[in-house]
Amino acid sequence: MANFNIKFWGVRGSLPAPKSPEALRTHLRDVLLRYDSEIEKSQTPSETPSEKTFETSKSSVERVDAFVESLPPWMSGGYGGETSCAEIEGGASRIIIDAGSGLRHLGEKLMKGPCGQGQGEVHLFFTHFHWDHLIGLPFFAPIFVAGNVIRLYAVQPELELCVRRLFERPFFPVSFESLGAAVSFHTLQPRRAMKLGAFEITPYQLDHPDPCWGYRIEAETTAGRKSYAHCVDSETTRVSREELGEDLKLYQKASLCFFDAQYTLGEFLTHMNWGHSAAPLGLEIGLREGVERILFAHHDPGAGDRKIADAERQTRDFLDAYRAKSKQTGRHLPEIEWQFARDGDSFDLGELRSS
Ligand SMILES: [Zn+2]
Ligand SMILES: [Zn+2]
Repeated sequence: MANFNIKFWGVRGSLPAPKSPEALRTHLRDVLLRYDSEIEKSQTPSETPSEKTFETSKSSVERVDAFVESLPPWMSGGYGGETSCAEIEGGASRIIIDAGSGLRHLGEKLMKGPCGQGQGEVHLFFTHFHWDHLIGLPFFAPIFVAGNVIRLYAVQPELELCVRRLFERPFFPVSFESLGAAVSFHTLQPRRAMKLGAFEITPYQLDHPDPCWGYRIEAETTAGRKSYAHCVDSETTRVSREELGEDLKLYQKASLCFFDAQYTLGEFLTHMNWGHSAAPLGLEIGLREGVERILFAHHDPGAGDRKIADAERQTRDFLDAYRAKSKQTGRHLPEIEWQFARDGDSFDLGELRSS
């Protein structure tokens, strides 16, 4: 049976952010220093056997694997540098949201299936047309293969104009007319649901300098109706139920919410009207609206792994303080899962119910 799966091929914001050689060198040094201290620890008698991750009886491969496993996520692999791209899959149904640089890797995967034989069908939804959500499209291999059908969707009527312009010289050498696949354009109605296989997709407006539409995707699973809320890019200038109005539904009881947390709360206050948000705003909405899990994303391109890990720590402190304050006022806050997104993160929302 098919499952409701979501995989993130890009979680960075604004611009792809590969690590520089200098940053990699510093990172390697930090890791080796940690390795060194672990070995030292294993050579001194320890009261707690669990501290001994470097048992000398293990082979060097086992020792290194155990060490890598013991590292915090920001140090073992970091958060990634590809821009926005999410794949929502369930049996024969596949939806892509955003064509950021992460789309290139998803294209490579799809080329191993029907798209590689010119028999693929792709449904790609755009939130808006800022570069970081568009830049992967000219590098999406299935679009060059004759026989493939690529359907592009957006609320904004300028969808076709924006995509055609992307394939114009001198921006790109291959013209739109000479693409192999049959590419079609579909304008969506705001806040009106459309069906696509097992999924129901509804666009809701976000708060961004240029109009930007998030998506709520729902499906029936054997454990009930589950939902994914794609909420980038947004400054979250509307937080209360009254302010959000009709767009409140985007968040309500979402099983998984992908939320714009480009800034720490301090940075957010000095970046008014830049169109991006901070994790505490996501927690406030998520706790109030019964969101099960929030994935904080759209990391600033200038933020290194250590800085994002710091923002994660600040978010934990914020939540602890928020819970303590709520307890004092007698308000009960539900449990909520949350984490800062990494390229390649994937989530299974359960087995789809056959209709
Ligand atoms: Zn963006
Ligand atoms: Zn944007």
